Amino acid sequence: MSQDRAPKISFVIPVYNEEAVLEMLFARLDALVERIDADCEFLFVDDGSRDRSLELLHRKAHTPHFRVIELSRNFGHQIAITAGIDSADGDAIVIMDADLQDPPEVALDLIEAWRKGAEIVSARRRQREGETWFKRASAKLFYRLLARLSPVKIPEDVGDFRLIDRKVADALRAMPERDRYFRGMVSWVGFRHVEVLYDRHERAAGSSKYSLKSMFLLATNGIIGFSDLPLRIALWFGLAVSMISFIAVIWTLVGTFLGGPVVSGWASTMIMLSFLSGVQLLTIGLVGLYVGRIYNEVKGRPLYFVRPDGGPEVSKVALEPRRAEETQ
Ligand code: UDP
Ligand code: MG
Repeated sequence: MSQDRAPKISFVIPVYNEEAVLEMLFARLDALVERIDADCEFLFVDDGSRDRSLELLHRKAHTPHFRVIELSRNFGHQIAITAGIDSADGDAIVIMDADLQDPPEVALDLIEAWRKGAEIVSARRRQREGETWFKRASAKLFYRLLARLSPVKIPEDVGDFRLIDRKVADALRAMPERDRYFRGMVSWVGFRHVEVLYDRHERAAGSSKYSLKSMFLLATNGIIGFSDLPLRIALWFGLAVSMISFIAVIWTLVGTFLGGPVVSGWASTMIMLSFLSGVQLLTIGLVGLYVGRIYNEVKGRPLYFVRPDGGPEVSKVALEPRRAEETQ
């Protein structure tokens, strides 16, 4: 940070059908610009919104500091963040949600920590307001589970609200994986990491864009992407069951030779059969999850496309697949 010029902070803000909150967000950001003593850029990534979000964003993009990238369809939150980071050129990048659950003013604390030398500053939730009992409980369970499974320490109760230094953004760009679990990737790259506490508020308006299905997909990406423990569990489980079966065989043989009441064993046969089929299906399914991901990676598709006619700024990255240089 010892440049002569003033540092530049880019804000990456993914937007999917957020027309109800955008005006409020703009007002908060306009006020925030005055308080940040650095160059600011607010980079909105429209993730294929179907409401008036894009129109509102384009209108705002005529004022200084605001820029829009328009993805060609809904690619999901994690990819939208990636597209934003790819195109942001600040010395530090703040990633935050559009719905004001991540209060923009917390960025001041993030920036201060960055100025003191941190390369990743994560905002940790002190409390979560206005979220359902189910969301809080499932999030808690998931974070605890992942912490046990993953060899990389992924902090609990930290979402995607954080600041990353340019170096970290470059490291993330070098990670082309398709199934992205952004917060895990940020932990994986290393660098000097500090946390800042904040209160997560209720959504300012509108409703959550994360369906149960997308929460589940994110959780699977987190676990499968950062741990091969499920595969090893399957192996140990399979071994344990084989041992039990082996003991059962011995017991049967011994029983037969000693003339004990062994046969008439329809029940035990059925139990073993169904139990083993269950274990086999489970294991195959588990392996399938990993194989599916390999297939996905091998296809090597670009992560997203940007619509070229989204405005003068956008044409820079127009329809240029990510990692285009590598696929040539
Ligand atoms: N979002 C997105 N694409 C999606 C879903 C969500 O860009 O497919 C954005 C959304 O507009 C918001 C952020 O990601 O800015 C977080 O989404 P949301 O608030 O719905 O998630 P929650 O806070 O309920 O987990
Ligand atoms: Mg939200």
